[in-house]
Amino acid sequence: MDTIKIDRKKVNIVEKADVVVAGAGPAGIGAALAAARKGARTVILEREFALGGMMTTGLMSKIAISSYIKGIAREIIKKLEEQNMSLPAGEPEIPIDPEATKHLLDNMLQKEKINIMLGSQVTGAIKENNKIKAAVIENKSGCQAVMGSKFIDATGDGDLSKFSGANFESGRKKDGLGSAPTLMFRIFNVDYEKVFEYIKEHPEDLGGYRDHTPEELYEKYYGSPQEYTHLGRFPALIEKLIAQNDYSEWEKRILTQRDGILFFNQPQPNHVLVNATRITGTDCVNAKQLSEAMIEGRKQAHFIHSFLKKHVPGFENSFIGDTAEQMGVRESRRIMGDYMLTRDDVLEASHFEDAVLKHSGGIEIHNPQGQGTEFVKTKPGSYYEIPYRSILVKGFSNLMVAGRCFSASHSALSASRSIGFCLGLGESAGTAAAVAANNSQKLRNVDINSLQQQLASY
Ligand SMILES: Cc1cc2nc3c(=O)[nH]c(=O)nc-3n(C[C@H](O)[C@H](O)[C@H](O)COP(=O)(O)OP(=O)(O)OC[C@H]3O[C@@H](n4cnc5c(N)ncnc54)[C@H](O)[C@@H]3O)c2cc1C
Repeated sequence: MDTIKIDRKKVNIVEKADVVVAGAGPAGIGAALAAARKGARTVILEREFALGGMMTTGLMSKIAISSYIKGIAREIIKKLEEQNMSLPAGEPEIPIDPEATKHLLDNMLQKEKINIMLGSQVTGAIKENNKIKAAVIENKSGCQAVMGSKFIDATGDGDLSKFSGANFESGRKKDGLGSAPTLMFRIFNVDYEKVFEYIKEHPEDLGGYRDHTPEELYEKYYGSPQEYTHLGRFPALIEKLIAQNDYSEWEKRILTQRDGILFFNQPQPNHVLVNATRITGTDCVNAKQLSEAMIEGRKQAHFIHSFLKKHVPGFENSFIGDTAEQMGVRESRRIMGDYMLTRDDVLEASHFEDAVLKHSGGIEIHNPQGQGTEFVKTKPGSYYEIPYRSILVKGFSNLMVAGRCFSASHSALSASRSIGFCLGLGESAGTAAAVAANNSQKLRNVDINSLQQQLASY
């Protein structure tokens, strides 16, 4: 590629913080709140104009959480529940309202006096030996620098680590492809009664979810309190219509690439959250490919909605409420830490002396190239642990990773990337960073026993 030299000699330093958090998704939120509550002067840098990452601007407004995750994750869920902006009792999956969540997070972070810098994308880092001195950001004011003592990369894609020169892996070993991304969208004005009538008459179209019958799901949806309801997949209907219609190859692929058309209820009435697009063969840290993927995702969303509107009773008067502002990236860069969590650690329920979180999620790999999803459950009643070493970036003295870019293998990450997990891992990272900053210590010198005693989820 051709290159051009950009001459930037001096940029303004807009903040000197104890803890700098890059990315305000679940991991960044957990990290920033935990660090600030430990007394660290904290700044959070987010490229979007709202906090929350996938759970808000990514429209993945359903928190999956294992019983081992406590602390900030539970606090957020409880606050949303108090505002009737989450569906209660649905553990392990709790639908939340994304708009209410953005507002709640603004308030929670402001209350802790965290410096929130929205619309600020991390585009580089200033390094001295093995230490990061500043994160470089680009925003409406141009290029700026944010100095810090400890840095937490919670960008999902590991951008800060990558720009600092950290090692990383992507995707599976054989070809580097990761779990396929999905652009989430919501459909409004759906008549659930009619959808249930259809599903009761055509139980073969339920497609199976945790072995619930249509009647059990009806009870969950109309019960008090209302619960998470994962309704419909329509495999039989899709098969029948493909046989009867002259669909293009692209249309057939979109209808069959997932295990059907998956949708769930939301706290707002008659809203449906759809997790059914799949964009294959995309490198989500390649700007051009990501741009093309967003356009392809919206094309798929509109086609899926038109299919539902035409063929599924209850969707006749519905419309697309919104598509997500950011791509639903399940996996991109996995930054190499002092330890890499493995598939065996997950399935054999490994425990570690330096554990900072417990988790029980199973393997869930979305075929990067086409149809199907690999699910492997963990042993019932067992849990695995996340070692502190897997959030310490190899070769750096003041850089940590939290969330879906932490140091895990392709399979292990697929098990440990839920929103509840990322909030928990962020909380652990933020606590450790604040402890180290407060004591003028290196991250690797933090006393593990004392840290564990301070962690809500350990
Ligand atoms: C399609 C899909 C379905 C899912 N389903 C569920 C589910 O049902 N339940 C569940 O609990 N989890 C689900 N997950 C997983 C979960 O949403 C993510 O793994 C989790 O949100 C990751 O959290 P994170 O904080 O690491 O990253 P993200 O949520 O991706 O947040 C990263 C943040 O960093 C920001 N950012 C990125 N780069 C930069 C930069 N250079 N500078 C500044 N800011 C930056 C982003 O804008 C974003 O706000 C799903 C994920 C996907 C993609």
